[in-house]
Parts: sequence; C-alpha cells; structure tokens
Amino acid sequence: MEKICNYINGCLVAPKSGEYIKNISPVDGVHYSLIPNSTEDDVDSAVEAAKKAFVNWGSSSKKVRFNWLMKLADAIDDCSEELIIAESYDNGKPEWLARKVDIPRCSENFRFFATAMLHHKTSAFDMDGEALNYTLNPPIGVAGCISPWNLPLYLLTWKIAPAIAVGNTVVAKPSEITPYTAYLFSKICQKINFPKGVINIIHGYGDTAGDAVVRKCDIISFTGGTKTGRVVAASAAKSFKKCSLELGGKNPSIVFKDCDFEKTIKTVLRSAFTNQGQVCLCGSRIFVEKDIYDKFIRSFVEKAKELKVGDPKIKHNDLGAIVSEAHLKNIIEHVDNALKKGAKIVCGGKRLKLTGKLCGGFYMSPTVLLNTKNSDPINQEEVFGPVVTIISFNNERELVELSNQTKYGLSASIFTNDVSKAHRLAAKIDSGLIWINSWLLRDLRIPFGGMKSSGIGREGGNESLNFFTETKNICVKIENKD
Ligand code: NDP
Repeated sequence: MEKICNYINGCLVAPKSGEYIKNISPVDGVHYSLIPNSTEDDVDSAVEAAKKAFVNWGSSSKKVRFNWLMKLADAIDDCSEELIIAESYDNGKPEWLARKVDIPRCSENFRFFATAMLHHKTSAFDMDGEALNYTLNPPIGVAGCISPWNLPLYLLTWKIAPAIAVGNTVVAKPSEITPYTAYLFSKICQKINFPKGVINIIHGYGDTAGDAVVRKCDIISFTGGTKTGRVVAASAAKSFKKCSLELGGKNPSIVFKDCDFEKTIKTVLRSAFTNQGQVCLCGSRIFVEKDIYDKFIRSFVEKAKELKVGDPKIKHNDLGAIVSEAHLKNIIEHVDNALKKGAKIVCGGKRLKLTGKLCGGFYMSPTVLLNTKNSDPINQEEVFGPVVTIISFNNERELVELSNQTKYGLSASIFTNDVSKAHRLAAKIDSGLIWINSWLLRDLRIPFGGMKSSGIGREGGNESLNFFTETKNICVKIENKD
C-alpha cells in the first residue's frame, strides 16, 4: 500500500509517530493509500525548516521569487494529466472538471501571483514638505495554509502562491480526506529543486496537525467550514495572529420572471450541482418569482433528472462521487430531516448504487426539494451536496428578506434583464460575491470572500498580497534650511 509522505525541508518524510490514516477513494470505496497521521512534532520540524528558509527567501529579490514561481507553474503543467486523474480518484469529482477547472487553476495561481507581486505598490504621503511618509510591505514569516477537500490542490495553491510570492515561507495542511494531489505537488517541488523549506506540507487530522499549524505559524490562511473557522479564529486570536477565514455559505440563486429563461435554467443547474454541489459558492436556495414558479420547477426538474451521475472517468457523466461515505450519510440525513418537516422530493433524494467496479462508491442523484420554509434547517444549514430547494417570492422586498435570512453571506446570483433591478438588489443582498446573470465567473484580481458567518477578510489579487505582508510606515522629517 502506497504511503503518502510529509514534505519537510525539501525531503519526503514519514510521520514521526509512524502512524497512518486510511485513504479511501469515493469513486469505488477502495482503500488505496495511507496518509501520515502527523502530530505536533512533525509540525515543529516543518515550522523550523520554514523559519530557516525564511532568512533567505524573505529577503530574496522579486526576480528570484518570480522565476521560481513560474518554474513551479510549468512543472505543474508538465504533470497535469497525472494530477487530473489523481484529483478525480481521491475526491470523486469528474475528470473533465479537474481537467477544465482544478488543475489548470493550480499553475494559474502561481503565474498570477508571481506577476501580481511585481505590481504590488507601496505608498508615499507628503506632509507639505515638512516630512515624507512612505510604506514598506515586508513578508511576515511562516504562513500556515489550511485548505478543505472540495477543491483540494486548487485551494491549497491559492494560498501557497501569494504567501511565497511576497516572501513568506509556508507550512500547509491539506484536508486529510483528499491528500493525494498535495503529495504529488510536493514531489513536483522536489523534482525541480524548489528552495528547501520554503514550502512544507504536513498531512493529518485537523484537530491535531491543523491545530498545531494554527498555533505555531505566524499568520493563518484558512478555508473550510464555519464551525472549524470559529476554532481556528479563537486559537489565532490568543497571539493576535493575522487570520483570514473563507468559510461556508448558503447561497441564493434568484430568478425573476424577466430573466432569459433557458440560459437561467442552465446556469442555475450548474450552480446547484457542479462538483456534486460541493463548491462553497453553489446556489442551494433557489428563489423564483411567483409568476414563473411552476414553469421554472417543471423545466429545472426535467433538466436535473437528465443529469448523469456515474464513473468520474466517463466524459458524459455530469456528476461524480460524493467525497466520503460519512459526508454522503450527512447529506442524506439533511434530506430526511427536511422530509420530516414536510418537504417534498421532486428529484433524487437517495444514495445511488452503481454496479460493477464502482459498486462500493459514494454516489447521490441531484436532489430537488419543494414545500420548504426558508427558516427550515435545510435552508439554514450548509448541506454541501447535490441538494437544492426551490421557494417562490412575490416582490423585491420579500426576496431581500429571504436572501438575507441566514447567518451566511458568501455569494448570490441574480437573474434578470432589468439592469436597475439587478444593481438595486446587489446592493441590498448580504453577500461578499454577487453575480448577475452568471455564476462562478472568476477573475483572480477581485476581492474574494464572505460576509457574516461566511468569513473574515478577502483573498485574491492585492487582497492576498496585502494579507500576507505587514504594512510599515516610515516618516522622514525634512529639515528646512532657511
Ligand atoms: P473543515 O472545516 O472540516 O476542514 C477544513 C480544513 O481545516 C481541513 O484541512 C481540516 O483538516 C482542517 N481542520 C479541522 N479542524 C481543525 C482545527 N481545529 N485546526 C486547524 N485546522 C483544522 O471543512 P471541509 O474540509 O469539510 O470543507 C468544506 C467546507 O469548506 C464547507 O463549509 C465549505 O463551504 C467550505 N469552503 C469554503 C470556501 C470559501 O472560499 N469560502 C471554499 C471551499 C470550501 P481535516 O480535514 O484533516 O480534519
């Protein structure tokens, strides 16, 4: 059985405890590799290596860092097919999705931040000739980067890239549920002789290895669930560490009668079920204007039923496997509880048993629920699976109330051909990200993040570069000769 290694100071190493966790593929339920069950001891070694490496990396020139990041991006592209296959098998997502989105984004993250860092500006403030203030943006030290399982290497590199671009070194902890591509990534770093200790990767459970990363690193970038985010924030607060939190969502897709109906159905469907509904930005509460509610349901359900769930290797399958058996049970429990509260299933709702080699895999049909209230747990708790509800609304005022009646505020999509209405509502909806007539149109320069319990801080573009640096102001008094 293959043993995944930690990556510390440029070396692939076993966990000090010698203990491992089973890595099971959701595609077929097969236990296919072993994950280091790392402890604080392993994190200590990684932090020590990162601290040493910071001495040179933190004071290296932009050009040196740019060249290394670009080299890493090229090396990722050279291994893209291996990464695509591995990501799909480890996570359950369709290979076409890993090919189109996940893996290209990994190298893009490095190229983007390698170039963005070259344009990162400092400021100057003239005090009428009496003094000149200017700012410097030095790196902070060792950045702890903790990422979830839904977009494994995509999100891990989204954090590592800006952190090292501006001169920090990194101790990263991927989710123990999907560790494999992070392991391949560490092999890529080793293959190109990436400077030792600049990137370190520790595998293991969140409450042990992850907790130690939060306590031992100088700055924390965390993406994951809101419950875990609260624990991370409390731990980081003890030493006033900078901490960025990208957390859960319960995002509304809002459909007005004046939308472009066919295009809207297509986009709302994609927003509901991409990656088996396991994208933090997925629209899980669909609000439809009363006049087209029945028409929308007929068309949406018809299309949802046509979606194919199955072998992630097969191109025409729209959905692959749910990430783990435990998560699948959790999703089904949410649906069962909604049924007890009076919800009606019009599509899916159950585990799907495939045959042959994939009979042990964790699959679920796209699920659509009607007859729910926005205050029901199904509309208040993040399900993070292929499950949506459809609720009607009468007017803009009611719609804003429904959309904002949740502790979350990550993203929203509004579908209408009335430009003024779109702007009016976008300003009123509590979401860090709002799309008009679209979903998941991403520009890496924009501020990315959520309001309320969906997080603190923003990532992307300058937001990431500012987050991973300190701002120092230097005030120089200018003596007047006369
Ligand atoms: P979790 O919060 O369970 O885990 C996220 C990461 O934190 C994992 O690496 C986990 O390790 C680690 N972790 C767990 N406990 C601790 C701890 N005490 N200290 C430090 N680290 C810890 O999230 P999931 O992996 O289940 O991911 C799904 C969630 O992520 C959803 O809520 C989703 O909305 C959110 N998400 C948010 C995004 C955003 O940009 N806002 C983007 C993508 C996902 P381990 O898995 O080993 O326990």
